[in-house]
Order: sequence, then structure tokens, then C-alpha cells
Amino acid sequence: MRFLKITWFLLLSTSFGLAQAASSADQPKNENVRFSADMLDRNIDPCTDFYAYACSKWLAQNPIPSDRPEWGRFDELEERGEHIVRGILEKYSANDPKRTVVEQKIGDYYQSCMDEGAIESAGTHPLENELKTIDALQSKQELVKEVIRLHRKGVGALFNFTSDQDFKDATQVIAEADQGGMALPDRDYYLKDDSKSAELRKQYVEHVQKMFQLLGDSPEKAAAEAKTVMDIETGLAKGALDRTSRRDPNKVYHKMTAKELAALSPDFSWNIYLEGVGAPATQVLNVTEPEFFKQMDKVLKTASLDDWKTYLRWHAVHSNAALLPAKFVKENFDFFDKALAGTKELSPRWKRCVRYTNGDLGEAVGQKYVDLTFGAEGKERTLKMVQALEKSLGGDIDNLPWMGPETRKQARVKLAAITNRIGYPDKWRDYGSLKIVRGDALGNSSRANEFEFQRQLNKIGKPVDKNDWPYPPPTVNASYNPQLNNITFPAGILQPPFYDNRADDAMNFGGIGAVIGHELTHGFDDEGSQFDAQGNLRDWWTEQDKKEFGQRTQCIADQYSGYAAVDDLKVNGKLTLGENVADNGGMRIGYMALLSALAGKQPAPVDGLTAEQRFFLGWANVWCQNQTDELSRMLVTVDQHSPSRWRVNAVTSNMPEFREAFHCKADAPMVRQNACRVW
Ligand SMILES: [Zn+2]
Repeated sequence: MRFLKITWFLLLSTSFGLAQAASSADQPKNENVRFSADMLDRNIDPCTDFYAYACSKWLAQNPIPSDRPEWGRFDELEERGEHIVRGILEKYSANDPKRTVVEQKIGDYYQSCMDEGAIESAGTHPLENELKTIDALQSKQELVKEVIRLHRKGVGALFNFTSDQDFKDATQVIAEADQGGMALPDRDYYLKDDSKSAELRKQYVEHVQKMFQLLGDSPEKAAAEAKTVMDIETGLAKGALDRTSRRDPNKVYHKMTAKELAALSPDFSWNIYLEGVGAPATQVLNVTEPEFFKQMDKVLKTASLDDWKTYLRWHAVHSNAALLPAKFVKENFDFFDKALAGTKELSPRWKRCVRYTNGDLGEAVGQKYVDLTFGAEGKERTLKMVQALEKSLGGDIDNLPWMGPETRKQARVKLAAITNRIGYPDKWRDYGSLKIVRGDALGNSSRANEFEFQRQLNKIGKPVDKNDWPYPPPTVNASYNPQLNNITFPAGILQPPFYDNRADDAMNFGGIGAVIGHELTHGFDDEGSQFDAQGNLRDWWTEQDKKEFGQRTQCIADQYSGYAAVDDLKVNGKLTLGENVADNGGMRIGYMALLSALAGKQPAPVDGLTAEQRFFLGWANVWCQNQTDELSRMLVTVDQHSPSRWRVNAVTSNMPEFREAFHCKADAPMVRQNACRVW
């Protein structure tokens, strides 16, 4: 799945999929999200630094709120959405027998999460069962049973297990075993030897120690336990594949029988796991990274039973920290949000609870959100934009000078097969079997995780359900899925500044138009282009065209690798390649779509800005964003997207149309001498 932008609160996640942060103000920060020409910094030449011209005033006026690691146009929308969802959840949190099933679930989930008094007095009681079971383990052979229990409750221990479409037969869903079991955001955090990484590891070990102390262990014991956790996770990290390699579908596709998997890690009872985890009996599964499971076996052998108990105990408390008493929440915040991401203070409880409810009951909350915010009209208008962008991409494919007729024909077939999901699902998810108990915050979250885990496993062996949405409608994001060959635009993003009923075509094509173009282009970026119209991993390129394509993507990789991300860190041009190709292609076809909408007529300038100028400003406008250095640093390692500044300047400096629109001189900084172009 390729998203438009990484969601930081999903990134800093515990098992809820969500972590703490947001603004301490109880009102939305900035209601005026529309573009205004007053925001332009006329002292800056757009040909020197277009991002600064479009965003520097906004950046100066919009510092990062103390309880967030970043603040940008996406965050403004997210926060507005959170206020809307809060209103919905508060309305249904009263214990009213007239509530519908959906209203009871979302209302009681939220109410339980908000009830700090009950959570404080319960202490670690809701976890005790789990901790006792771990403590009672008699042998390493029994570990498998506890791993099953924890996986079903959404606790990421040892590895990850779920379902996925078969890369080479997109109609089928198979089981998937993936690397995992590490609490830090990436394997690089365990392995890199620079001083910042070493410092973070030190802080991490201190954090793990403090969590054990909060569970009642002595400082000495807790320190030894923290070291054990670090040793085991580092052992796992050594077998994990790096993020850039994981972008290559062939490197994460290894179809195996259960027997073959068992041979990779003979010390783990895979037969018991596969029988007990709740998956339908399955002949084959995708083992994304066989080396990881070999390495996992080594770690299994080396660490003692007591070490494993310590490791599992850590993951049980870590994954549940957000719904334990305040001292756990604070300790978890201090490391994962403050040290790792630079967030200064914990967000108000209601924001965290809005996020957890959305994370666990997204399509139940989403129904209410859509009723309030998104009409049929929104769907229709967006669909029209999508059609205009598809037409442009078709025209682009027809006229690419480097592509031969055979590949061109195949690309056309793929484009024609792309389907769209706009606003919200046709059919809402049924949460009927998920029990939400008023007053049991941690239990609710745990059962929601189990519901979701089982839902994913139930897909195994069945045909793909194309109506299954990957995230709830209030999400401010968009995505392309290469295995489904479809794009998804949730209601949350279909509003200003991305899409504005009151703005003209130029701004909208530069905003949501280029975003739609971005998602469509993902079907043809360095990763998406390896999948065919049906979503199968199949090479449909001629050798010559593949070579031509490779040269052009290399140009993009080299270009972005030269940009600074933060301090001494450079953008990773290979990790961000797919997103950068999509940004460049999206703007190209967004521009083409604007030209065809204008049909040769030049509308009168608005605020002294031509339609072409406002198109580029429409794009820049959505990327204005302040970010802590800590988060920027983390994102260089884990985010496949480039920093906002380069999402604007790198793309526009590749486009001769930009140079023309702003009358830039040939040697201006925003005019790239060897401009890159793929699509
Ligand atoms: Zn993307």
C-alpha cells in the first residue's frame, strides 16, 4: 500500500495502532485552511526557493503545538477531524438504552478510555492474567502458546503474522509471516553505530528498565531485564531486512509450505502455532524474509527461558501502555514521543481517546463522520476529477518519447483497469462480534485487536474483498494499492486546502488533482510498475523500455539523494524513489488536466496570479509544514516520502512549465539543468 503521506501518530504506535499527541488547545487551531495570496512571501523570489515563497509566512505563523511533533496543512485537517469525531463520541458516551449497536460500541469505548479514575484504580490488574501466564511458562517449547495469545491480542512479539494477497495470484489471499518483535521503529535503530543512534539505544534501555520498575521490579532486576530485552531485539534486528530492500516485491515474496517454514526455525513449534493461531488450515504461506526466521531461531536457542519471559513481559506492557495508569502513559510518552519524535507534552486525554476509538472502531465512527461531513455531491465531484486525471495519464503514456509500442499498450491496459474508492466504503464493516464493555478500557482495546487479527486471518483462502478499506473515512490521506490496482480517497482529504468548492480549477488541480495524479502514478513507479493490470507481480515491460525506465528513475534517485533532510542527514533517494516518481508524475498529469480543463482559454489572473502560477501554488500550499528535528531524523530512516520542502522544490524545479509560469531565468536555482522526468 502506498500512502500520500506517512501518519506520524500511526508511526509512534503501540498495539492500538495509535499513540499520544495533538494540540492542547481545545478548539481547532486554524479554521482558515483556504489558500490566500496574502500568505505569499513577496520578498522571496519563487525562482530561488518556491517552497519558501509559498510557505515561509505560514511556517512563521504556525509553530508546532507543544503536544505534536509536526504541524502542517495535513495536521490542521486531522485536528479538525478529531474535533468532529469528539462531538460524535461524546454524544454517544452517555449510557442511553436507546443507542443503536454501533452507537453503544463507539460511545462506551470512548467513555471507558476517558475514565481515568477507573483506569487508575484498576492499576495493572487488567494485565495480570497475561503476566501470570507468561510467568508460568515451563519450557521454551511452551513459548509458542504465549506468542499465539499475544499475537491474537495485537501484541507484536517475535514476528508478525497476518494475511496478504498472493503477489503472483492477486485473486487469492494467503497467510503471511513477516519480521517483527522489535519495539523501536526500525531495525536500523538497533544496528547503526553513529552517536545519535547509540544515545537513543541508551535511552531506550533506560525506558524499558523504568517500565519494569513500574511493574514492581527492583531497579537492579529491571536494569538486567532491560538489557535482556535489548539483546533479544538486537538479535532479531540482525535478521531483519532493511526498508529500502523491502520496497522490492521480489525480496519479500517467498512462498513456502509450513514444513519449509518450520525448517527455517526448527526451535519454534510452527505446527502448533499454525494450528492454534486461528488461521484456516493452509498449505502455503508467504515468508517475507526467510533470513529473519533463521536468525530468530538462533536467538531462540541462545536466550534462556527466563530471558524469553522477560521479553514477552516487556511486549505485553509496552503494547498496552497507553491504557494503563498515568505513570505508564507518561513513561511511554517520554521515550516514544519525546525522545524519539521531539514532542514536548502529552496531548489532552480526549484526543488520545478519539484516536484510539478511530483506530479500533474506525468504520463505526466513520459512518457517523460521513453522515455529518460528506455528501453524495462530494463523491461525484471527486470522481470527475479522477476521470480527468486518468485521461491525462493516458495522454501522457501515449506521448512518452522513450516508451515502445508494446509496453505502451500494456500500460494503457493497466491504466484502464484502475478502480476508484472515494469517500467511504459501499458496505460498512460489521463489528457485531466485538464486545465493548463499559468500564474496561484495556479489555476493549485488546478485544478490538483480536477482532482485527481474526478478521485478517479469516481472509485466507478466500477471494479478495475489494470493498475492504484499509483505513477509516476521517483519515487525511490517500493511497494506491498495487495488488488491487486501485486508488482510495477517504472523505477526510476531500476538503480544503486539497479540494475547495469555492476555489477555481487551477488551485484544485494543483491540490487534489496532483494528489490523484500521485496515486495513479504509483501504479507506474519503480515498485508499482512491477505489477500488472490484475495486480499480479508480472513483468509486462520490454527489455529496452525497462532499461529506459531504469535510467529515468535513477535520475530521480540521484536528484533526491543530494538533498539535505535534517542536520547532516541526506534524503535516501532509493527509499523515497516510488514516492518521488509519484510526486513528479502526479504534478505532470495534474498540469495536463488543468490545460485540458482550460481548453485554450486563459482566465483572468486572481490576486495578480495566473492560472498556471496558482496551479503550482496549489501544490506547495498543501505541503507547508513545521517539524521537530527529532521527527525529521526518524523519518529519514522510516519514511518513504521526502521532506515537504523537496516534495515542492524538487518537483517544480524539474518542470519547464514552472519556469515558464514564473518567468525564471535559465540559471535560477529553481531551474534544474538536468531535469529528471519519468512520466
Ligand atoms: Zn504516495
